[in-house]
Amino acid sequence: MTAEAQATNPPHVIIIGAGSLGLCAAVSLADGGAKVTVLEAKSIASGSTGRSVGVVGTQFTDPDEILLRRYAFQHFARWEDAGLHFNHIGYLRLARTTAQMALFERSVGMQAEAGFRAKLYQADELHRLVPHMDVTGLAGGIFGPDNGFLDPHELCMFLAERLKSLGGRLQQYCTVTGATRQKGGYRLETTKGVVDGDVVVNAAGAWAPLVAEILGQTLHVRPERHEGVMVLLDQPLDYTMPMVMDLVNGEGTGLNFRHEKSGELIAEIHKVDSTRAENPDDYNEQCDEASKIHLAELLLERLPHLPGARLGRGWAGLYPVTADHRPFVGPIDAREPNLVTAAGAGGYGIQLAPVIGQIAADWALYGAPVSTPGMEILAPSPARNIA
Ligand SMILES: Cc1cc2nc3c(=O)[nH]c(=O)nc-3n(C[C@H](O)[C@H](O)[C@H](O)COP(=O)(O)OP(=O)(O)OC[C@H]3O[C@@H](n4cnc5c(N)ncnc54)[C@H](O)[C@@H]3O)c2cc1C
Repeated sequence: MTAEAQATNPPHVIIIGAGSLGLCAAVSLADGGAKVTVLEAKSIASGSTGRSVGVVGTQFTDPDEILLRRYAFQHFARWEDAGLHFNHIGYLRLARTTAQMALFERSVGMQAEAGFRAKLYQADELHRLVPHMDVTGLAGGIFGPDNGFLDPHELCMFLAERLKSLGGRLQQYCTVTGATRQKGGYRLETTKGVVDGDVVVNAAGAWAPLVAEILGQTLHVRPERHEGVMVLLDQPLDYTMPMVMDLVNGEGTGLNFRHEKSGELIAEIHKVDSTRAENPDDYNEQCDEASKIHLAELLLERLPHLPGARLGRGWAGLYPVTADHRPFVGPIDAREPNLVTAAGAGGYGIQLAPVIGQIAADWALYGAPVSTPGMEILAPSPARNIA
């Protein structure tokens, strides 16, 4: 659609799902002049988003991952100026080998080009960042002081407010149950009546394949179960624990932990053994006892002297995962450009949500990712949309 046509007759875009991806897409669309309606089956952030650890980081070794985050951070910076809390506690990714340190060295250069600060630490310097850490088996790490975490609920409430101020609508407890094509658009049946729109964005996270089916499409996103646990300390640390991640391109334990608040950390294992597809409406939302024991063992190895550390409440949530571990953003079927998918962000759907939202908005408004050139590669093409 041309800019002129849009100004006179803005499209009505219906977004299915009020998680981080749906709400970021909604705000980008409303910013771009669209009429926006978000339909959410439960409440805002009630899906994977509300179960996430909220880490936003740039310590990657792949230039495409860093580029995506450059776009994402531009949005976060603007939203921070507008009042969103972003806790810049820093992000440390650990290396076990000199080969990984060489990758990190390249990452420092790539990040500098993208405008991010990052620095290498040798193993014997890591105690400056994490005095409690045992560095056995480590070669060093890469640290980004500006990375950090945000509260995913707060992010979504912030976005919902922003959407409202831009004239967008958000309907909670409204499940999309059916869809029919009609001239120039779609009619969605919901538990609260019908809604007509010109463009539909499927941002239903772990439910995205079910919503795709309702829309007459096939989408391969696998809901993968992950667990998080609170770590409670007897006394507050006298420094802020940065985010620490023990995983480089699939190598490492996947253990990660970070400061939550005074005297509390959150720990998670990013890598899981089971790749079983979960039923998003019926899976174990609690953390298994066996996982807690495994996590405690890994924590004891890496942080053996934390004062009075014990595990608190645990929970589980779903990573919506694609076959190539990159999100799907764009139409599934080129012949149906007005059905856009924004799903499959795996373990990165908080940090990538702003850029995914922007790309989805571009597809919906202009039929191509015009403001993020090159991101056509994220469209769920037949080659990528596989089990
Ligand atoms: C334990 C854990 C830790 C994580 N940590 C991080 C992290 O540190 N950093 C990071 O970036 N990411 C993290 N993630 C990943 C992140 O949470 C997800 O990638 C992200 O939340 C996905 O967002 P989404 O909007 O795609 O899905 P969701 O948040 O699940 O939103 C989809 C919404 O669609 C709604 N819906 C479904 N079907 C329908 C329907 N028929 N009609 C209407 N609405 C419907 C659902 O109710 C849901 O609210 C973590 C995930 C887990 C589980």
